[in-house]
Amino acid sequence: MADLFGGLGGFMKGLSSFMPQDDPDTKIFNANNELNELKQRELQLYAEIGKKVISDVGSRPEFSDIVSELQENQRRQIKVKETLKTAEDEKKEKQRIEQEERKALTCPNCDYVNPEGVKFCQECGTKLGAPGKGTCPGCGTKNPPESRFCGECGHKLL
Ligand SMILES: [Zn+2]
Ligand SMILES: [Zn+2]
Repeated sequence: MADLFGGLGGFMKGLSSFMPQDDPDTKIFNANNELNELKQRELQLYAEIGKKVISDVGSRPEFSDIVSELQENQRRQIKVKETLKTAEDEKKEKQRIEQEERKALTCPNCDYVNPEGVKFCQECGTKLGAPGKGTCPGCGTKNPPESRFCGECGHKLL
């Protein structure tokens, strides 16, 4: 049993070494693997305690080694969960930035998504990055270009 999980864990670790290590996805992948290994080990330790209780009937079973490993295991699980949470937040932030970059490349006039590094829309020539006339800076709603206030949220338009 232990060998099977050890082998699988080793395989997963080998696999993750091909992934970029500073990528949040890799961190999430690694943290999940470590958490799974810790949980497997935790179950093994509980099973060992159970075995001792049965086989050492009559004598006083000695649990201190197992209990201290269990406590250490559970401390590590808490730490790995924190790592996992940090990596998930990082991933969300990365996705938000990517979305923002995509928004900056989307033409405010015709919605064409331009390639990176382009300053003017390749489809209609509108300057990118600047909101189109009538586009609300508050909520992003597109109003007729002559509008002075946003019809959606009442924000003053440029
Ligand atoms: Zn355009
Ligand atoms: Zn608005």
